[in-house]
Amino acid sequence: MAERKIENACGKDDLILVTGAGGFIGGALVKYFLDKGFRNLRAVDKKPLPMWYQQHHGVDSLCMDLSEKGNCIKAAENAVEIYQLAADMGRMGFIERFRIECLRSILINTHMIEAGYRAGCQRYFYSSSACAYNIELQKSPDVRALKETDAYPAMAERGYGWEKLISEMFCQEYWAERGMKTAIARFHNVYGPSGTWDGGREKAPAAICRKVVEARHEGKKEITIWGDGNQTRSFMFIEDCVKGIDMITHFDDLIATPINLGSDEMVSINDLVTYVEDIGGLKLKRKYDLDAPKGVAGRSSDNTFIKSVLKWAPPTRLKDGLKPTYKWIEQQYLDRKAGKRTVMDTI
Ligand code: NAD
Repeated sequence: MAERKIENACGKDDLILVTGAGGFIGGALVKYFLDKGFRNLRAVDKKPLPMWYQQHHGVDSLCMDLSEKGNCIKAAENAVEIYQLAADMGRMGFIERFRIECLRSILINTHMIEAGYRAGCQRYFYSSSACAYNIELQKSPDVRALKETDAYPAMAERGYGWEKLISEMFCQEYWAERGMKTAIARFHNVYGPSGTWDGGREKAPAAICRKVVEARHEGKKEITIWGDGNQTRSFMFIEDCVKGIDMITHFDDLIATPINLGSDEMVSINDLVTYVEDIGGLKLKRKYDLDAPKGVAGRSSDNTFIKSVLKWAPPTRLKDGLKPTYKWIEQQYLDRKAGKRTVMDTI
């Protein structure tokens, strides 16, 4: 099965705007475009520049709050393509606790898409989430994988998931009513180096890597796991994510069509811990915190649709993607211990 070639990409000197570029996926996407030879990039995030996970030479990097309409207009000026990855988000504990903050991301998407349209942008990518899916379909660890049609009838994750669904709808209507080409990917848990690894917003793979690193360097014998460890998920490596964004955005059959972008390798949190222990070279006693937020019981990505249209799906096996992730988090840990600056989320 030969994967589809990327269609109709913009010129190497056309302006590409990446929002949320101080964050995990946005930062990786800027690097991806630079590596592909694009020379005119604008990167925007509300975090002060020194706190960005990645900063790149030659990129117009701006600190602006994109929930403000005027800032979206400035950010979108002359942009030929816009990749909208700015959102207030984090792991289950964060999105269950801060629903208002998650809902308020609707301001970013509402202003950004209008600003993009008025600026004459040719393609607009929106980062949706598996949290947009009906939670009733995710009540058991051995659930069937979620397919695109499972978002409706809607019963999304409170707060965060509903914001994603409404923002998806904006993208669909800007195409239907105004002819702006929009693309919508529903990400399933993304992990990899240069992401949040501490501070409360980190996702399970990063959190487990950090706990195993701490155990290894501090002689701890025990690891605390949120829930009973039987909850299942799939995890997509960051390099697959940025490539998938590019493919989805530039394939015209997918305009305004929500599509899964995730791995279909479903594992339990207990499996994930075993993989990371193997990388760290130790075995820990597992303590289960049954009162901690654990999210839905099971969730994975059905990749039938993406395989049928793009002849591609995220290929990296979890065991392979965890190795560079663990290594990067261990280095962050050691740097912090040595008093050096590390990637931290304090906003
Ligand atoms: P992240 O938190 O690392 O990055 C998001 C960035 O958006 C942050 O740097 C934050 O400062 C910025 N931001 C927040 N509010 C802003 C504002 N008002 N103005 C400007 N910038 C603002 O998260 P990420 O993992 O890189 O996620 C990127 C996108 O992908 C988000 O839309 C997220 O909902 C979506 N997503 C991510 C995952 C995942 O597993 N990481 C899964 C599903 C969906």
